[in-house]
Amino acid sequence: MAGEPQADCLFCKIVAKEIPAAIVRETETTLAFRDINPQAPTHVLVIPKSHFPDAASLAAGDPAAAADVLREAGEVAAQEGAVESGYRIVFNTGEGAGQTVFHAHAHVLAGRGLTWPPG
Ligand code: AMP
Ligand code: ZN
Repeated sequence: MAGEPQADCLFCKIVAKEIPAAIVRETETTLAFRDINPQAPTHVLVIPKSHFPDAASLAAGDPAAAADVLREAGEVAAQEGAVESGYRIVFNTGEGAGQTVFHAHAHVLAGRGLTWPPG
C-alpha cells in the first residue's frame, strides 16, 4: 500500500531506528537528520515517515505529509540559524538528477555560498 514501510529502504530503517542517524528534529509525520556526507556546513535531510519514492509521489499520495516536510525544512533552517543568510531546499528526483535513495527527502543546505544555477 502507498506509504507503507519498505523492507529494503534505508530511510524506512532510519525511521524505524534500526539504523542510527543524527536526528535534529522529529514530528509525528517527519524526521530530520544530518546527511552522512555533508555538502555544506548545514546539510540536513527531512523525510516523511511514510514511504514514497520521491517528492512528487509524496505530494500526490499524501499532500499533508508533503506540507509537513516543507514546514519542517523551514524549521530546520531556523534551528540552524540559516534564515537570514538563506538556505536551499532540494529534492533530487530520478537517477539522472542524482537521486540515490528512493524514499522522498528534502535536502536543507546552508552555511556557505550557494551558487545558482546549481550543478
Ligand atoms: P539523494 O542523492 O538526493 O538521493 O540523497 C541521498 C542522501 O542520503 C545523500 O546525500 C547521502 O549522503 C545521504 N545518506 C545516505 N545514507 C545515509 C545515512 N545512513 N544517514 C544519513 N544520510 C545518508
Ligand atoms: Zn522508505
